[in-house]
Amino acid sequence: MSWFRKKNPRIEVVPTDERRVKTEGQFCKCPECDAAIFKRDLEESLQVCPHCSHHFRLDARSRLAMLYDEAEYEELDDEVVSSDPLHFVDTKPYTVRLEQARLSSGLPEAVINGRGRIGGHLAHVAAMDFSFMGGSMGCAVGEKITRLIERATAERGAVITISSSGGARMQEGTLSLMQMAKISAALAVLDEAHLPFISVLTDPTTGGVTASFAMLGDIIIAEPKALIGFAGPRVIEQTIRQKLPKDFQRAEFLLEHGMVDAVVDRREMRAFLIKALNFMVNPAAQVEAQTEAQSSEPQGSLTSDPDRNGHRQSPATDLKIKAQSKAQNQST
Ligand SMILES: [Zn+2]
Repeated sequence: MSWFRKKNPRIEVVPTDERRVKTEGQFCKCPECDAAIFKRDLEESLQVCPHCSHHFRLDARSRLAMLYDEAEYEELDDEVVSSDPLHFVDTKPYTVRLEQARLSSGLPEAVINGRGRIGGHLAHVAAMDFSFMGGSMGCAVGEKITRLIERATAERGAVITISSSGGARMQEGTLSLMQMAKISAALAVLDEAHLPFISVLTDPTTGGVTASFAMLGDIIIAEPKALIGFAGPRVIEQTIRQKLPKDFQRAEFLLEHGMVDAVVDRREMRAFLIKALNFMVNPAAQVEAQTEAQSSEPQGSLTSDPDRNGHRQSPATDLKIKAQSKAQNQST
């Protein structure tokens, strides 16, 4: 019997756990054109398909890095997180859902606030992340965006929001709906201070976010083919008993009908925003305002209300402003 058996097998046996193709997990498929894309190429093109320009979803921190000068920014208000005011339980308790969302997304909340410079202009950017409970707007999201706007008003910066949301967070009921009014009120103060607000809509922007700040921008920009609307098409069809047109609620359709001002490819977004800020921000006014802000406490903004100061303004900024005015007072 030993005549037929080879003493040394010519091919070495690979252990089962090493039986993996080296390129596995390095490619992904474009849902639009079916092309296989090398993941590193996709990262370099800011998660836009190099073949058909399909825009994949992008996480909040990558968005901030993509917009700011040298990808440098300061992350603000990450201590603001949702509590469970209604003790809400559906199939799971809300607290469990929050914990799971934090673990899976690696984010503290569905929005990330940043402060830095875009094309040299001071800009406060709130970027929403759909991977955190569908980018839904609860009390913490509303509070973070409001703080960002109030801080921009005090520091004379521009506000940019990047929306990606399924709407208000139902686990927080009416409290989440109130955020719509709260953010809008802060935006009204920003407007009175003649500071720019640019709203960027990404796929998908729906519900309470569309119904409030996302549609209040001085300029409203959408990413190509983004779904933007309030209610879903099926609900609308059932309500008005009519067939909706093709591509209804898509960015290009909305541009044609005057609901958005521009549809901009993600790879050109930073250049577009710099151009818009160059046009909207008067550098002379900015310098004047900065010296003014240093000599006195911010006036006319919601943060100047002493009752609300403690929890409305981040303590760090509050201290900084106070320290600045103190130094100014001593020197004069
Ligand atoms: Zn593609």
